[in-house]
Amino acid sequence: MISRIRPDVRAMHAYVVQDAHGMVKLDAMENPHSLPPALQAELGQRLGALALNRYPAGRVNDLRDALASYAQMPAGFALTLGNGSDELISMLALACAVPPSEANGFKKAVVLAPVPGFVMYAMSAQLQGLDFVGVPLTADFELDASAMLAAIAEHQPTITYLAYPNNPTANLWNDEAIEHIILAAGEQGGLVVMDEAYQPFASYSYQNRLTRHRHVLLLRTLSKFGLAGVRLGYLIGPSVLVAEIDKVRPPYNVSVLNCEAALFALEHQEVFQAQALDVCAQRALIFEALAKLPQVHAFPSQANMLLVRVPDAQKTFDGMAARGVLVKNVSKMHPRLHQCLRLTVGTATENHLMLTALEASL
Ligand SMILES: *Cc1c(COP(=O)(O)O)cnc(C)c1O
Repeated sequence: MISRIRPDVRAMHAYVVQDAHGMVKLDAMENPHSLPPALQAELGQRLGALALNRYPAGRVNDLRDALASYAQMPAGFALTLGNGSDELISMLALACAVPPSEANGFKKAVVLAPVPGFVMYAMSAQLQGLDFVGVPLTADFELDASAMLAAIAEHQPTITYLAYPNNPTANLWNDEAIEHIILAAGEQGGLVVMDEAYQPFASYSYQNRLTRHRHVLLLRTLSKFGLAGVRLGYLIGPSVLVAEIDKVRPPYNVSVLNCEAALFALEHQEVFQAQALDVCAQRALIFEALAKLPQVHAFPSQANMLLVRVPDAQKTFDGMAARGVLVKNVSKMHPRLHQCLRLTVGTATENHLMLTALEASL
């Protein structure tokens, strides 16, 4: 009976995937490039030869090793895999959801993150019985360091997320603010997750600062790199910490198909690197084109998306959709995103169509 489903779940809205049929799809930060035909054929051979009748086994160790080398994982650190980084975000919440008791003053564990930010942080917290605390960014989408520090002192978060670059604002954060937040979160015993989903398009990574701390985890995904359909995320952190989080992972969460496709992509990483370079070059061209439109304000981007403010986001979104271009209207997500649209960077042709549709829909 439906009444036995959790009331908070019944009150939720299901995650909506916009219908993109027949449209220029620039709503979900996907890599616009597909695999070259020769590589498609080679991958097809590899996938066809897999033992689909067997549970995933030792091959995931090969993938862990390949990712550890790709991400230059430091000594003393370990890596666990997720079915997309979304699954790792759920696993983190699950592993940290200490139930309210006398020992913790009957308080739920807290997940803290700047907002507007990635929706899964709040959703994973709610579903696993943690509280979510969102700390507003400044008006230009910088970390509000003093507000973050005050919130850490007040709420003693178990997990603090910093998306680097952030979604949907596409920017990196100030180094000094990050270090203050990481220290404060650690001093009260919490974890910090640096979520680097957009690392392929960013000029900085937290990777080379990881060994400064024992409570910081690096979350990455192959989705924006070019394998959104494959579902493969990874979490890097001090071995002792990762070993605990790994215990809540469903045993066969990464299928043999995901695993082999990810290994194949890493063997051909120069193809994806060239695609990421193209996306960054296209991002610069879009930025230049938008600078010529006085009604549009484009925020600086270190990701494969641009956040723009227009006079009327709904009107522009509808106008673009009517012209066959699907973007994301984020203007209702948070007050700071008033009249904002999020544009994913596509191919040169797609971006041209997008810019034409945008200009015609202001
Ligand atoms: C897209 C995204 C992810 C999730 O990616 P998966 O496809 O589940 O690996 C994680 N974090 C941020 C900030 C994202 O934008």
